[in-house]
Amino acid sequence: MKRALAATAAKAHSEQTADMHPSQEKINIFWFRRDLRLHDNAGLYHALRAGRPVLGVFIFDTHILDRLEDRDDARVSFLHQQLAQLKDQLEHLGSSLLVRHGRPLDEWRAIAASYPLEAVYTNRDYESYAIERDEAVKALLAASGMGFHTFKDHVIFEGDEVLKADGKPYTVFSPYGRRWREKLRSRPPLGGGEGSYYLQSYPTEKYHHHFLKTPALPFPGLASLGFEPSALPIPSAEVSQRIIQDYDKQRNTPSVRGTSRLGIHFRFGTISVREKARRAMVLNDTYLNELIWRDFYAQILYNFPQVEKHAFNPKYEHIPWRNNEQEFERWCTGRTGYPIVDAGMRELNATGFMHNRVRMITASFLTKHLLIDWRWGEAYFARKLLDFDLASNNGGWQWAAGSGTDAAPYFRVFNPTAQQEKFDPQFVYVKQWVPEWGSSAYPAPIVDHKLARERCLTTYKQALGG
Ligand code: FAD
Repeated sequence: MKRALAATAAKAHSEQTADMHPSQEKINIFWFRRDLRLHDNAGLYHALRAGRPVLGVFIFDTHILDRLEDRDDARVSFLHQQLAQLKDQLEHLGSSLLVRHGRPLDEWRAIAASYPLEAVYTNRDYESYAIERDEAVKALLAASGMGFHTFKDHVIFEGDEVLKADGKPYTVFSPYGRRWREKLRSRPPLGGGEGSYYLQSYPTEKYHHHFLKTPALPFPGLASLGFEPSALPIPSAEVSQRIIQDYDKQRNTPSVRGTSRLGIHFRFGTISVREKARRAMVLNDTYLNELIWRDFYAQILYNFPQVEKHAFNPKYEHIPWRNNEQEFERWCTGRTGYPIVDAGMRELNATGFMHNRVRMITASFLTKHLLIDWRWGEAYFARKLLDFDLASNNGGWQWAAGSGTDAAPYFRVFNPTAQQEKFDPQFVYVKQWVPEWGSSAYPAPIVDHKLARERCLTTYKQALGG
């Protein structure tokens, strides 16, 4: 019955489109990237209000896809599935989604040649590659008299919105966080009341009738993009109120479900960060603080793009890393003989998720105990994490290696045994991921903690010239 209704609706819709949009009427395009949703979407809202019919576009970028190592990469499956849903939603509105696969500049050249385009609307992305890509697309479109309009959507405050009194970016989190909060409070919502102007939703739904009416457009299968479906389950975009309410009490215990697991949804914009921040303001301030960390690392990457390849603090460029490949392999596969490290790595390999506390422990262990370059660990996490995000991953790794924005100097070396006792004293988390722990099949520690700590401190001290 449902299918018959849908077929009738689709037929009516394609008959309508042929009449309503003579091919030469100018249109605007909304380019979806990290914002795969039709509600509370800043750029989409502005596109829909601009007075022209709007067509949604997504480009599977070969520059990004070709670098992925796993053909069953779960992020690609997730993206593909979310786009199918988005396309479905757009088709219910009488429109569709134009999906392309290639180099963005080539794709835009082709799109601009086949549609009567007035302008492209999109939300800003702060990674260097994205900034360069957008500049190139803007120039290409401008050469044909077409506009390119960008908006803030991915963060609450962008890299140039929360600055020190001297106009320079913050490099330490605590004062950044204080200024971030002041700015949030400085502007009440339009019409007054509780909350903040900066967290207001964009009522995008009100303008959904401005989508271009068009028959359904083709949609590439995963295989045609060179990928296979992944078997990894994706955490839900719905989080119970209890998890957020108890976040400050539960978030450090890796054996309980005490964090939101929304990382992948923040990454791809299947949820709105403004909505989540509003909820956090009411339910749990510690949760809001984590969203401030997200903005903090996004602004570090934007203001200091060199961190993508180099230590934030240049003094740390010259650590003589040991980079032992066998040890790296044991770390990757969770066979270091330190149970909390091994549990974390196995959780990551099995699920694409690792608890934040354990991310800190495993990253510290790799860089400080094994003296392996943080960039190796960063790349491994980038390959495995469902919620991989360049800014937060790089920030987390440089924090662990001591080369980043952390105010604490390099001599904080986590003791994995003490961390175990504090955060998983009954070994509940360890037993979940390392079934052979406690038996003769479990390996002896890869390195003695005391020895590793001293080796690390000596190496760092010498490299830093102190
Ligand atoms: P919750 O604890 O429920 O927090 C909610 C959201 O706040 C997260 O989804 C995330 O968007 C944001 N957030 C929380 N903590 C941080 C933080 N320290 N820095 C930045 N944002 C934060 N986070 C990523 O999103 N992508 C990464 O690739 C990533 N790599 C990391 C690597 C290392 C070495 C470390 C130490 C941390 C990394 N983090 C990363 C930060 C953090 O571990 C994850 O955001 C968090 O564990 C994700 O789980 P959750 O969604 O349940 O988060």
